[in-house]
Amino acid sequence: MTRATRYDLVVAGAGIAGAVVAERAASRHGWRVLVIEHREHVGGNAADCIDEHGILVHRHGPHVFHTNSSAIREYLSGFTEWKPYRHRVEASLDASLVPVPVNFNSIDLLFSPPRARQLQRLLVSTYGEGAEVPILLLRNSTEPIVRRFANKVYEEIFLPYTVKQWGLLPEELDPSVTARVPVRLNRDDSYFTDAFEAIPSTGYSAMIEKILDHPKIDVALGVDFHSPGGLPSGTLALYTGQIDRYFDYKHGPLPYRTLSFQFQYQAGGLVQAAPTVTYPSHPSCTRSCEYRQLTGQDAAGTSRSFEFPGPHAPGETVPYYPIPTKASRAQYQLYAAEAKRARNVVFCGRLGRFQYLNMDQAVGQAMKTAETICMGSR
Ligand code: UDP
Repeated sequence: MTRATRYDLVVAGAGIAGAVVAERAASRHGWRVLVIEHREHVGGNAADCIDEHGILVHRHGPHVFHTNSSAIREYLSGFTEWKPYRHRVEASLDASLVPVPVNFNSIDLLFSPPRARQLQRLLVSTYGEGAEVPILLLRNSTEPIVRRFANKVYEEIFLPYTVKQWGLLPEELDPSVTARVPVRLNRDDSYFTDAFEAIPSTGYSAMIEKILDHPKIDVALGVDFHSPGGLPSGTLALYTGQIDRYFDYKHGPLPYRTLSFQFQYQAGGLVQAAPTVTYPSHPSCTRSCEYRQLTGQDAAGTSRSFEFPGPHAPGETVPYYPIPTKASRAQYQLYAAEAKRARNVVFCGRLGRFQYLNMDQAVGQAMKTAETICMGSR
């Protein structure tokens, strides 16, 4: 039997989106699925591994699972136990470390006590206690004191970080990007506020391996979907790679940002004030993550990753982030129209749909996509 006849579905990419579609198709619908992955491991950019010092690190930067969806939490809980977790981030500014999202604790550190109190009162009376206000909105406040505060936060925390991360000004990006980290009008230092936040207790790779561990799923590692023999022709495909690459860049390459990572080990105890520290004014590094603070692992030393964003070079670097702008959305629509016309292929995930998705959103989208495919509406 040839590959084409052996499988009901070929999934390109063993990241979280591809794994979930494969699992749903196999276990809910009894489909035989082949998952093709060009890397030598599953898990995509959520993959983790034990480093040479015995510490579990995230190969592609920190991943923290958080969701408000009980359906998504319950689905993943079938494949992992969880370690409850609450992510915290501090921005390293010239004089101090301040909690991010900027909140009343940050304001206390940035201003004198009378000024901080005045600002907090004014913010609460304008937006309400506990409100989360995007920085770009706050900069338009009609209240000069609020505007001055917003401009300080914008200039010290958002502007340099965002230009370094995206190569664009905050205003040039879809407003949802900076709105991910709003100014929060209370003393909650949590980075996320979702109902459920946790780390898979044996790691993301173990969870995704378990998702793929099904008698009707075969996984082929180190195989490029685009190489000769990579794509079994005639079989329905679920593609989680770059949609522009799939269509040979016929409407031009979509814009992505890449990352490079430097991992550093230090003997002794924990060294960071928070699991993630951001460095808005550093010339090239955006943030560092100390993994033992995420995993709760005990060890004789501590491993950290430092992230360095840059422009993505097609075929050379890893596309980590679709760059969401008006122009890129319009360009993506050209590819989405191609996708609609294409027979036998469906697109899913961050790269397949050119969307800045969190992990839970990627899982939710994959669950829906699997139903659409398997119920024959595509
Ligand atoms: N951001 C910032 N300064 C910070 C943290 C975040 O300017 O100290 C902005 C920046 O534009 C970033 C966006 O907020 O890209 C979203 O941050 P998030 O931590 O959600 O990014 P991710 O973890 O997805 O890279």
